[in-house]
Amino acid sequence: MIHLEYIDRETTVQTTPQVCMHCENPTCAQVCPADAIKQNADGVVQTSLKPRCIGCQNCVLACPFGVPKYLVEADQMMKCDMCYDRTSIGKRPMCATVCPSEALYFGSLEEWKSRRKGRLVNQWKFGKQVVTTNVYTVMPEESDAVTLDEPVKIDVRLGSIAVRKREETRL
Ligand code: SF4
Ligand code: SF4
Repeated sequence: MIHLEYIDRETTVQTTPQVCMHCENPTCAQVCPADAIKQNADGVVQTSLKPRCIGCQNCVLACPFGVPKYLVEADQMMKCDMCYDRTSIGKRPMCATVCPSEALYFGSLEEWKSRRKGRLVNQWKFGKQVVTTNVYTVMPEESDAVTLDEPVKIDVRLGSIAVRKREETRL
């Protein structure tokens, strides 16, 4: 299960697919009070286990990428599990199978490097926190991380907010 996000809804209808990034240390699983989200030995973070999920939505709030979705009718969180029924037997996930431009690509790093250009990046900066993921994005060659949320300095005397100069490439 993946979903589309608008890039900049005010100016364009362009969207981007949002898959689970399969974080090395998944916040969604860490905040789950029911231990309903399991991470496999190969790093894939599963969707919630139906018998355990109590629909509290902690994971929905905690995921830095906005991935988990709470389904009201099922009273359960569901998210991308990298089509584990397929990938665990050597098949590609369905999204990568149907994407005509290979904007979603599934394969090893070695396969990627032999076929495509661009730098693969799996470090995401949220202020001072760096999240490392098992899913990569493609960036210009000079990029080594993606900054998604910058720390802000609040000057109480002036009542203003100054955003620190950004040094990394932003999505
Ligand atoms: S991207 Fe979100 S849902 Fe996926 S493993 Fe990381 S914290 Fe969990
Ligand atoms: S919604 Fe379900 S999977 Fe998510 S934190 Fe709550 S119990 Fe865990």
